[in-house]
Amino acid sequence: MKILLLGKNGQVGWELQRALAPLGELIALGRDSTTFEADFSHPDAMTATVRRLRPDVIVNAAAYTDVDRAESEPALAHAVNAIAPGALAHEAAMLDATLVHFSTDHVFDGSGSAPRDESALTAPLNVYGVTKLEGEQAIRASGCRHLILRTSWVHAARGSNFAKTVLRLAAEREHLEIVDDQIGAPTGADLLADVTAHVLRSVRQQPSLAGTYHATAGGETSRHGYACFVIERARAQGHSLKVAADAIRPVPTSAFPTRARRPLNSRLDSGRLQARFGLRLPPWQEGVERLLIEVPRH
Ligand code: NDP
Repeated sequence: MKILLLGKNGQVGWELQRALAPLGELIALGRDSTTFEADFSHPDAMTATVRRLRPDVIVNAAAYTDVDRAESEPALAHAVNAIAPGALAHEAAMLDATLVHFSTDHVFDGSGSAPRDESALTAPLNVYGVTKLEGEQAIRASGCRHLILRTSWVHAARGSNFAKTVLRLAAEREHLEIVDDQIGAPTGADLLADVTAHVLRSVRQQPSLAGTYHATAGGETSRHGYACFVIERARAQGHSLKVAADAIRPVPTSAFPTRARRPLNSRLDSGRLQARFGLRLPPWQEGVERLLIEVPRH
């Protein structure tokens, strides 16, 4: 089986290089690749790359993920998150290949407090969410065999994410203010990559399992609860932090105006994936503990 991985240098892409390797011949490309064009802002060149390589599986871990900047670069976000995945899906359909793609809790409006399953109504609040939803729709419309895995709050030792930002700020400042009305599940890129490999293998054996699934770590927390856990466990693991344990103040999202609106309820129900593929998604805390061991000490 020949697997083409795109976006190899992102948080999830990096872990996929490891997790997909045992499944077949893996060709991993990033925006900086020189042998084959893999810049998503040039969809025609992407198409040419797929036609030359003729993979059995395309795994797309590339995306325009800067949620705030997308508000001022909607055309680029649309090209990377919607047009390019649509072009990949078209090529996958022509080759009878399987396309694996990642999407986000930002396709929902975040109202209410219940976890959303795959059939929940989509209604993005920001440009990033709109373009990610358009990408999903283009993939479904292409008719290719696909797996769309929606996840939330991804963290990894490599790359930028909320947990690493909290660690940096906690090393610099004595007081922190963190929003406590955004609820979701921090999900390790390593867990998501491993789940992707298992699910992909099952879909190759049983194509009727293809489709859209929610895939997050187990449990839920607020951004504030997440930050407190990161700080408490980092300190226990020997990170040197300036912030006092009782100086992490919970504040509402409205106290931190951002260019892009964020969903407050990012809870995704991953029950369908676990039931269909016989997998268990461990509690989010396990992934964060692991992350704290891997990141360099401040
Ligand atoms: P990262 O931001 O860590 O990585 C994104 C990757 O996309 C980078 O390697 C980047 O390349 C690449 N990329 C960006 N623009 C282009 C372009 N024009 N052409 C080619 N490659 C490009 O994202 P994650 O690994 O965290 O996200 C993986 C997937 O998960 C995405 O689909 C994202 O939407 C989804 N997701 C992420 C969440 C999160 O919290 N991060 C939450 C929910 C879903 P380069 O390294 O060169 O910049």
